[in-house]
Amino acid sequence: MLHLEKSTTAFNKAKTLMPGGVNSPVRSYARVHCTPPFIAYAKGSHIYDIDGNAYIDYVGSWGPMIAGHAHPRVVKALHDAVERGTSYGAPTTIESDLAEMVRYLYPSIEKIRMVNSGTEATMSALRVARGFTGRNKIIKFIGCYHGHGDSLLVKAGSGLATFGCPDSPGITPGTAADTIALPYNDIPTFQKTMRTLGNSVAAVIVEPIAGNMGLILPQEGFLQTLREVTKTYGTVLIFDEVMCGFRCNLRGAQDMYHILPDMTCLGKIIGGGLPVAAYGGRADIMHCVSPEGPVYQAGTLSGNPLAMTAGLETLKIITEDPCYIPKTTALTTLLVDGLKTAAAAAGISLCAHQAGTMFSIFFSKNAVIDYEGAAAADQTMFCKYFLAMLAQGIYLPPSQFETCFVSGTHTDIDIHTTIEASRTAFQKAAQ
Ligand code: PMP
Repeated sequence: MLHLEKSTTAFNKAKTLMPGGVNSPVRSYARVHCTPPFIAYAKGSHIYDIDGNAYIDYVGSWGPMIAGHAHPRVVKALHDAVERGTSYGAPTTIESDLAEMVRYLYPSIEKIRMVNSGTEATMSALRVARGFTGRNKIIKFIGCYHGHGDSLLVKAGSGLATFGCPDSPGITPGTAADTIALPYNDIPTFQKTMRTLGNSVAAVIVEPIAGNMGLILPQEGFLQTLREVTKTYGTVLIFDEVMCGFRCNLRGAQDMYHILPDMTCLGKIIGGGLPVAAYGGRADIMHCVSPEGPVYQAGTLSGNPLAMTAGLETLKIITEDPCYIPKTTALTTLLVDGLKTAAAAAGISLCAHQAGTMFSIFFSKNAVIDYEGAAAADQTMFCKYFLAMLAQGIYLPPSQFETCFVSGTHTDIDIHTTIEASRTAFQKAAQ
């Protein structure tokens, strides 16, 4: 039985100060009917709350913590950097160091601009695509989440799916009218839409591996079709790799599936736990960005030296050892296989998906390839499973519409402990 007395007191106070007591909705645990543990500190694969509970962490700050929490090299680099000042609002060489590293790993990114959040990255990429093409419409896919920019909060995943409101109020009809939302993995619908509207579509934005309706992989030919058709119509193809970048594979989904987008958005891991994201792509497109071109986009703290330092050190850690991502991927496979076996032993039909170091499970008898399938999975069972796991010290995202993350600091023992806890949790879910 988990004791969350101090967290409960802290949450009650926070609720008087912030909507839902949180600064980002899913953290509220509102859909799993439980107090969210308030975190005191984190180290490696573990996270510790203010009541003294320890958890094996599969949230990893929602993706960034691929090298584990408080990695000694990141901590040391940050200590050194903070002594030199926290922000200058002027160019530094570390921005170019990080940009160079990213370009080396993602050759499709000929030029890059650093920003502070994934939301900013996708919002800016769309503005650039519109400026470049002189067109207004965009296509996104139902259940993909690209941050909370107005034109992207249409049939979105992640917290919006969790709270059952995929279209947010507060978006003008004019803005929403320029966004066309199509089913993920549905090739004929995409082709048909482009045949009618292709010449007015500025950009197609997609999570090439979707992680915001749970984890859903692109079906054979889907990304290829997006690439071919957008090329035909002169539409900018944007891969939103904020979540899957550096994680499904060091070089992202574009390397995994051998498809080069025109633009890419990155986030999470690129900042190593500090607020960094980026957008970039073909040089002719990025040439539109101010001050080279007329499309305006700026940021007081963009390229902040502390944030660049954490990102660069994290990317060094995961690239210097060529086995870093493959080893972490193998550990993730061990876990996913263990979960499947444990679910089967409890008589549960489970769809378990994995892409490199990310995974998620759906309580579903049917294959899950789109938002409709994800939404049809059994949420009640998920909730029981989640609570039983938390009670045993396993920290998972509190929603079926999120993805779990493994870090390079998770151990075989962590994985076996998690599988063991799952045996009990699946039995509880089945009751
Ligand atoms: N794109 C994707 C694919 C994401 O997963 C997220 C956040 N989970 C975002 C964009 C938005 O990033 P941020 O929360 O940093 O604004």
